[in-house]
Amino acid sequence: MHKKNIIIYGATGSIGDSTLDLIRNNKDNFNVVGLTCNLNISKLTKISNEFDCKNIGIANKELISQNKTVLKDFIVFEGIEEFQNMISNHHVDIIIFAISGSAPLKLLMEISNSGKTIGLANKECIICLGNLFLKNASISSTKIVPLDSEHNALYQLLKNKNIDSINKYTITASGGNFYKYKYSDLINITPEQAVTHPKWKMGKKITIDSSTLMNKGLEIIEACILFNIEPNKINALIHPESIIHGLVEFKDSSMHAFLSQPNMKISISSILFDNNNVNLDNHRLDLGAIKSLNFIDIDNEKFKAIDIAKTSLDHGGLGPAILNYANELMVNLFLNKKILFTDIVKNNKYIMNQFIRDNNNIKNPNINDIIQAFIIIDNYASRLISN
Ligand code: NDP
Ligand code: MG
Repeated sequence: MHKKNIIIYGATGSIGDSTLDLIRNNKDNFNVVGLTCNLNISKLTKISNEFDCKNIGIANKELISQNKTVLKDFIVFEGIEEFQNMISNHHVDIIIFAISGSAPLKLLMEISNSGKTIGLANKECIICLGNLFLKNASISSTKIVPLDSEHNALYQLLKNKNIDSINKYTITASGGNFYKYKYSDLINITPEQAVTHPKWKMGKKITIDSSTLMNKGLEIIEACILFNIEPNKINALIHPESIIHGLVEFKDSSMHAFLSQPNMKISISSILFDNNNVNLDNHRLDLGAIKSLNFIDIDNEKFKAIDIAKTSLDHGGLGPAILNYANELMVNLFLNKKILFTDIVKNNKYIMNQFIRDNNNIKNPNINDIIQAFIIIDNYASRLISN
């Protein structure tokens, strides 16, 4: 049997862990031919040794020179700008794209031409690149499998369906830790409280985004881009059990739902194994034991992230990219205790409005326009914080 060759960009993170665990249990089916990290060289070399992977990429170049001895047995791709060369070095079947944030924007754009199958976990880049990325992918027959659980659910639900007969799309949100809090209590939430999640084990940034519901706002943008959905046809619903991840309502008012345990291995397995044909026995759903599934409308007065995300789509052009980038800056500031929890979304809105008011938006931006817009947002953000 042909083993599939896999590269994991962002192998030392939470998505990387889940992917490698699936591969670990199915070693006969895969060769790991490339793994990358930013800083965590000790974890990267440990997993590279375990999976006998010689090609490694390290984004932080300073650390490479400090770790020459540890790295002597590997072919090292130095800095994120070299990561794309890992593909040409080897026959590659699947790329898992799980670097966090918008730092790998150019990398994603470059690999959109690869003609490979890309498992897309990173949402920030697709939100920034929008159609630029999808157009390239379609011209070069690059196949995109969304791994974000809600989008993976929609992807699986939409297989062999007639898009014209769909009325409405719904993605679910666990609600994070704080959806029941009063606004006045949200103000005092600390980074320590916000980096844990009731249902999902994830990296810090996305965990904070879940609790501000910015994650859901970003996911609405992500879904509109990936599936070409009009913003008024998609919404989010709090579902604290996180068992249903996506729903599609057809014109005849029937609804199809995708259910699974809240575990990223289920989404990731859909790119590693064809036709859902892998035993993940530990992850069976026992609906009798779960008994009830609950749904709650989002309080858009208290959590404004979804409205802001939809406004960014209405602005079009750079709207989604600048909202996403402002949010990355604000989450960092919150983690460093420079702003309050409630300032994250408030500042995102303020910065987006200012960018639009100053006439900076561009209708069909290219990647350089996007990077230029980030510089403008950096300036707005530092002025806002120093005031
Ligand atoms: P983590 O923070 O756990 O991992 C991030 C990975 O990216 C690490 O390997 C990290 O390396 C690497 N990395 C971070 N910054 C850079 C950089 N500047 N250059 C190169 N590599 C970098 O994140 P997650 O695994 O949780 O999330 C990854 C992506 O998937 C995010 O975009 C997230 O939104 C998305 N996602 C994640 C889900 C989850 O369940 N975790 C669910 C749905 C989507 P190092 O370890 O060295 O810092
Ligand atoms: Mg998600």
